[in-house]
Amino acid sequence: MRYYEPRFRMAVLAGEQDRLISKIGGLPWGMPADLWPHCCGCPQKLLAQLRHESPMLDLGKEGLVLHLFQCLECGGIDECGRDVVVIDQSSMGDGLTRVPGWDHSCGLGEPPLIGEFWIDEWLEKDDGIPDERLSEFFVESSYWALQDEFSEIDFYDFLGRTRFGGSPRWTGNGPLVVPPPPFEFLFQIDNSLILEGVSPDVDAVGCVVTTFESGSSHQSNALPVATKLGAPWSIIHEVGSDYYSAEFTNLGSDGTIFVYVDRTQVPHAVQWFWNR
Ligand SMILES: [Zn+2]
Repeated sequence: MRYYEPRFRMAVLAGEQDRLISKIGGLPWGMPADLWPHCCGCPQKLLAQLRHESPMLDLGKEGLVLHLFQCLECGGIDECGRDVVVIDQSSMGDGLTRVPGWDHSCGLGEPPLIGEFWIDEWLEKDDGIPDERLSEFFVESSYWALQDEFSEIDFYDFLGRTRFGGSPRWTGNGPLVVPPPPFEFLFQIDNSLILEGVSPDVDAVGCVVTTFESGSSHQSNALPVATKLGAPWSIIHEVGSDYYSAEFTNLGSDGTIFVYVDRTQVPHAVQWFWNR
């Protein structure tokens, strides 16, 4: 099955945003303020703003933009706090949108914003699993059997946990929340985003950076919360590794966001959930 892996750039290292960019976190670009969803008495936090970009992200029509919001008071765990706003770019403005209370500290996250990461590039990949096996991913028993059959499915492989299209990679809880058809799997984003290279300096990124080497770990001088707007919430880097991981919101420390689409509607209807 073909799928796409986004490559991310940390917004705090990228300069000012001057146009609509597909991204995780931060403030929404050009979204009409009256569409900003609230929950638990507060504005929700932008989790992602993603442009229709087929085949990586098909929202049903050119020019559509998907917004996912998460309430960091309730976490978006139960029935509420996980809003979706899909709008046409023609009804969007210029510049970053703010609403009163956009930067409030929440019970489940002190930073004013969800960590911001821009999608720079898409890598097209193929896991070698035939398309006709897709339905087996959504039944717990057959999913675990697939893992035995295809070495590409690895429960312990957290590197492949952020992917668009193709088939899902569940957490240890298996296919926990799957909306019934006509909803289909659209993409998933892991709690830890993978970035290439060596972790930048703590002052440059404005968050806690933890480096570890087999058995010991070192945490950067204490920075209790993200000190730069849109900074990651934390970074972890293993000495000698050519990548590092960055946490951007509260998904219970190791959760994954799963996003589903109903293609029978235009714009396509979207739902999202997260679980550990
Ligand atoms: Zn809430």
